[in-house]
Amino acid sequence: MSIQVFGIPVSRGVAIGRAVLVASSRVDVAHYFVAVEQVPQEIDRLRVARDVVAGELELLKRELPAEAPHELAALLDVHLMLLHDETLSDATKVWISERHYNAEWALSAQLEVLARQFDEMEDAYLRERKADVEQVVERLLRVMGGSSPGPSTLAPGAQKQARDFAGEDPLVLVASDVAPADMMQFKRSVFTGFVTDVGGRTSHTAIVARSMDIPAVVGAREASRLIRQDDWVIIDGDAGLVLVNPSPIVLEEYRFRQRQSELERARLNRLRHTPAVTLDGQAVELLANIELPGDGPAALEAGAVGVGLFRSEFLFMNRNGDLPGEDEQFEAYRDAVLALQGLPVTIRTVDIGADKPLERMSAQELRHEHGLNPALGLRAIRWSLAEPGMFRQQLRAILRASAFGKVRILVPMVAHLGEVKLIFEALARAQHQLEEAGRAFSRVEVGAMIEVPAAALMIDRFLRHFDFVSIGTNDLIQYTLAIDRADEAVAHLYDAWHPAVLHLLQHSIDTANRLGKSVCVCGEMAGDVAFTELLLAMGLRSFSMHPARIASIKQRVLRADTRTLSAVLRTVLEADDPAAALKAALAAHGGG
Ligand code: PEP
Ligand code: MG
Repeated sequence: MSIQVFGIPVSRGVAIGRAVLVASSRVDVAHYFVAVEQVPQEIDRLRVARDVVAGELELLKRELPAEAPHELAALLDVHLMLLHDETLSDATKVWISERHYNAEWALSAQLEVLARQFDEMEDAYLRERKADVEQVVERLLRVMGGSSPGPSTLAPGAQKQARDFAGEDPLVLVASDVAPADMMQFKRSVFTGFVTDVGGRTSHTAIVARSMDIPAVVGAREASRLIRQDDWVIIDGDAGLVLVNPSPIVLEEYRFRQRQSELERARLNRLRHTPAVTLDGQAVELLANIELPGDGPAALEAGAVGVGLFRSEFLFMNRNGDLPGEDEQFEAYRDAVLALQGLPVTIRTVDIGADKPLERMSAQELRHEHGLNPALGLRAIRWSLAEPGMFRQQLRAILRASAFGKVRILVPMVAHLGEVKLIFEALARAQHQLEEAGRAFSRVEVGAMIEVPAAALMIDRFLRHFDFVSIGTNDLIQYTLAIDRADEAVAHLYDAWHPAVLHLLQHSIDTANRLGKSVCVCGEMAGDVAFTELLLAMGLRSFSMHPARIASIKQRVLRADTRTLSAVLRTVLEADDPAAALKAALAAHGGG
C-alpha cells in the first residue's frame, strides 16, 4: 500500500531507494558492502561470533551460583535458543549473501525485522521477548566488533564494485533519530538519502545531512513505524515529503525530477571558479563550513575562498570520554589548513553540549536523560571555560596549526563580557606555554560567534576585544524565539523571518561594518537562497556555508544589485511579513 509521510525538508533533492531501518541505538553499526568474494568470509565471521557467544552463555550458565533464581538459568537457555534460531542466523546470512551487507549491518537489519514482529504480537509475554533478541544481538555485535575488516580495507573502487554486486537498488536510511556523532558515519556510508522521526531544520543531524548533500527529511514523526524494511521510498527533500511504496507513475515523475536536479547541479557547478561579485561590483566572500579536516578538499572543489567555520567538536565526539590530545588535534587542524592551500581557516573552539553531546546520544535521548534544557546549560564556551586545561590544550593545538597557514580562532556562544576576559587570558597562557616549549605559531585573529541575543545587542562592546564576528543564526533564532532548534514539535515556530531576528541581524551587521570589523554569517541562513538578497541588503559581504550550497548562493550573488537591495531594506524590515515584502520589492525592481 502506498502511503505519504510529512516532515521537515532539510536537505534538497530527491532520493529514491529501498528503506533500511536502523534503530537509534544501532546507527553506529558499520554499514558497508562486501565484495562477492568476501561473502563466505563475512558469513564465517557471523558463525565464529555465534560460537563465541554460545560459549559465553554456556559458561555463564555453568557458573551460576546454586542460590541463583532458576529464572536466570531459564533466561540463559532462552538466549541460547534465540542465538541458534534460524530466523536470526539464516535470515542474517541472506542479508549478507544476497544484499552483500557486512555482517554487523546484516545482523542489525534482521534485528529490525524481528523487533517489528515482536512489537506486533498480541501476547504481552511474547512481546517482551524482543528485549532478549536485542541482548543476544548486542552480544554478537560486541564480539564481532573486534574482527571487522571494515570498508577501509577494501581496495579503492572496491566499495563501488561491491555496491554493484549488491544489486542496482539504492538505499535510504530510516531511523527514529540519529545522533550528530553518528551522522559522521554516514558521510562514508552507502545511503543516498534519509528520514528521521525527530529533529528540526537546524538540528545538527539536519546540518550534517546538508553537508553531505543528500536529500533528507526530519521530524517525520511516525516514519520509522510506518515504513518497513525494504519498502520503496521516495524522499522529497524540497517538500519534506516521504512517499512509501509509490505507484509506478509517481515513481516515474520523481525519477524525472531527479534527473532534472542532476542537470541543474551540473549547470551550477560551472560557476565554481567564477568570482562572487554582484552586478554593481561588490565582492562577496563565500566560505565553507566543515566538520572534519577531510572536508577541506570538497570546500576547495566547491570554489570556497576559505573555511568560515570548522566545527571542531566533531573531533571530540563518540570517543568514550577519551578526548583528543593536543598532538592529535594539532594534526587535524594542520591537515585542514594544508588542505586549504593558503586560504584562511576559521577554527571554532569546541561547541559541545545541547544537541551535540560528547557521547552518542540523540537529542531525544538527551531530553529523556536530563530533563533539563541542555541548550541553556553548560555548552560551547561555557563548557570550555569550565575545563580550562582542555581549553588551553585546544588553543595550543590551533595556534600550532597557525604555523602552516592562515588560521583564525572563533569562540562559540559568547554571551557575557566576563567570558571575554577569561578567553583572552587562556589564549595568552597557551601562547606563553608554546613559547616556553619553543613551538612555532603565528599571530591569529580571534572572533566571537554572535548567537545569543545578549551578544547581538551588545556587539559593539564585544568588538572592542574581538577582531571579527561570525553570526550563528541557527542558535540566534533558537535563543531569540525560545524555540529548541532540535524539537520537531515547535519546528513550525522556528522562523528566521521573525522581525526580532532580522532586527538583531541587521544591528549586528551594521555595527560591525561601522566599526570596520569583519562580519560573516555562518548559520544555515547563509546557505539558503531565500535569504541571500536580504543579507546582502543588510550589508553582509561574507557568507559561510556547506560547500554544496556555494554554487547556488553564488548564482544569487551574481544576479544581485546591492544598490537596489539596500534601497528596499527599510520597507522590508518594517513589514509585518518581511519575506513577502522582499519578494514584492524585488519583483517591482525586476530582480535583485
Ligand atoms: C549557528 O548556531 O548558527 C552555528 C553556525 O553553530 P552551530 O550550528 O554549530 O550551533
Ligand atoms: Mg551555534
